[in-house]
Amino acid sequence: MFDKILIANRGEIACRIIDSCRRLGVATVAVYSDADRAARHVAMADQAVHVGGPAPADSYLRGDAIIAAARATGAQAIHPGYGFLSENPDFVDAVGTAGLVFIGPSASAIRAMGLKDAAKALMEEAGVPVVPGYHGADQGDAHLAAQADLIGYPVLIKAVAGGGGKGMRRVDDPAHFAESLASARSEAQGAFGNPAVLIEKYILQPRHIEMQIFGDGTRAVHLYERDCSLQRRHQKVIEEAPAPGMTPQMRTAMGDAATRAAEAIGYSGAGTVEFIVDAADGLRPDGFWFMEMNTRLQVEHPVTEAITGIDLVEWQLRVASGESLPARQQDLTITGHAFEARLYAEDVPAGFLPATGRLSHLRFPDNARIETGVRAGDAISPWYDPMIAKVVTHGPTRATALRALEQALVDTEVAGSVTNLDFLIALTRHAGFRRGEVDTGLITRDLEALIGSAPSDDRALVLGVIGLAGLADPQVHGGMTLWHPLRRTIAWEGGTAILEVQGPGAATVTLDRPHQVRWQGGRWWVDGDLCRERIVIHPAGVSVFGGRVVHLMPLDPLARHAAADGGDGLTRSPMPGLVRSVHVTAGQAVVAGDRLAVLEAMKMEHSLTATRDGIVAEVLARPGDQVEAGAALIRLTDPADG
Ligand code: ADP
Ligand code: ADP
Ligand code: MG
Repeated sequence: MFDKILIANRGEIACRIIDSCRRLGVATVAVYSDADRAARHVAMADQAVHVGGPAPADSYLRGDAIIAAARATGAQAIHPGYGFLSENPDFVDAVGTAGLVFIGPSASAIRAMGLKDAAKALMEEAGVPVVPGYHGADQGDAHLAAQADLIGYPVLIKAVAGGGGKGMRRVDDPAHFAESLASARSEAQGAFGNPAVLIEKYILQPRHIEMQIFGDGTRAVHLYERDCSLQRRHQKVIEEAPAPGMTPQMRTAMGDAATRAAEAIGYSGAGTVEFIVDAADGLRPDGFWFMEMNTRLQVEHPVTEAITGIDLVEWQLRVASGESLPARQQDLTITGHAFEARLYAEDVPAGFLPATGRLSHLRFPDNARIETGVRAGDAISPWYDPMIAKVVTHGPTRATALRALEQALVDTEVAGSVTNLDFLIALTRHAGFRRGEVDTGLITRDLEALIGSAPSDDRALVLGVIGLAGLADPQVHGGMTLWHPLRRTIAWEGGTAILEVQGPGAATVTLDRPHQVRWQGGRWWVDGDLCRERIVIHPAGVSVFGGRVVHLMPLDPLARHAAADGGDGLTRSPMPGLVRSVHVTAGQAVVAGDRLAVLEAMKMEHSLTATRDGIVAEVLARPGDQVEAGAALIRLTDPADG
């Protein structure tokens, strides 16, 4: 085993790797950017080395600086986590050249799986079923269109260099093939510098089921499957293991295919083979097809750890340090069922826009495994993935594990940024999901119900008003009569209510309509219902957790003034992100709807368009700039002002 390793990552995954190292007595070296000086992973590691500026290209992607940090601190090996340098074969080569061990597969194994077309060809050769389609070299328009006809519509055009759901286009009708091909190619060129595509049969009711594999460079075992069908725009939201409805025959077939895939490329370490399954056909041993292989530890690996009792990071360290595979296939078993939910700083009703903010309050429950890279008081910065935590539960059955997930999410408290917590809770209560009827279209189909708010939701707001009024403090609320005046207007960012104190422990809070509030028996009651919600007062305001989550921020008169002054002609960034391109120059005339700039955030591109006619007075952002939510990007003046 190693004495000391460097972790070339940040956030929850860096912390999670440090946890295992501690248990194994391995010393740890963290690296950090300017934005992460006070980050949790830095505080947890035995040593930490600063590697550059906040942009990933200036720090976490600087292989040379990271290798230098490892050598300077005497680390023997580098763990890449996921994302960043984890699937970069040139980095793997450089680590080896520096006399260090890369905790992961060989550069050649990563290269073999790096492009989807070559990977599919390789898998076909190894006898692994691949999604029917065309993944050849001829990229001519007419040839691709003819291949699509042969495959049969609907088809899916995919960038061969794709990842993160980019460069994919579903085409339902041959008449739209040419235009979809052009747009997939240009997105692929922009994102990956490679316009090549492949074409697949579009599976109509797809389930995403992946196999966790682990190799020692020669042999591989599988650690069963994970179902990641609960996705939004091809990004995973809740994952589980084992897959609902999985049969022993299908599991054996998928496990054999996945270990064959790993052994075909001499795979070493943890990896994931992703398959697509047609849910319309049920789970049949001949009804799954290889999509791609991720040659790293996967975000959702904890569900596998929960059902197998294995620490995958420990296995990674053991195998990378020269030990043989820690277990044989017949030693492995599944115990119970596990779920993982990805808690993000994002504005769900606004279309899942990534958010930032300082976490003025953060509390996780004891009844779940929590993987996080932040603490109360830490910021979710615009520079990195806005994940706050992964909430993982395990139970003897799927139903108990799902109930445990629901409860753990209800017990989770985050304030200071909007989050997807309500959305995740709604998902755990979705009737189809509860029955195990999952497919990748579930979230889109039921989006309105999942993000809609029921009329009874006013209750959380009522409790928030009580908090804002200063009545939630246990020292105070029994004596509501002492409050003056008896009738007050309570205002917060985005709303007002009227509070009337009626007597000891009794008040009315009027929102759209009056609500009766009582403090009785040590609990709050709203409109006669006992409230299980928790009112939390924190530096940024008042939050109510345990039901619908609401945050009430005290009014800031200055902020309100700025918001009201919408006539400043400024186009602002609606979310933190990277300016991809700017399409106007100073002095240029634009009309409402013209594209001004393209912003990339959460692996997606968003066009920012002119909201009115005008002249571009100033261009305040350049391609490549990382901007915060609200940052001014373009200033327009009226044509008359020239
Ligand atoms: P997984 O199946 O493990 O979730 P993903 O492809 O969603 O795999 O990516 C895992 C992580 O890698 C993400 O959470 C993110 O941090 C990083 N990542 C992957 N692709 C991108 C990308 N295109 N841009 C930025 N980060 C990415
Ligand atoms: P990425 O590298 O972007 O993760 P994948 O090939 O893994 O790309 O596909 C991402 C997601 O797109 C899958 O999880 C699945 O939801 C969907 N998908 C991929 N291929 C197909 C297909 N042939 N038919 C239907 N859906 C698909
Ligand atoms: Mg994928």
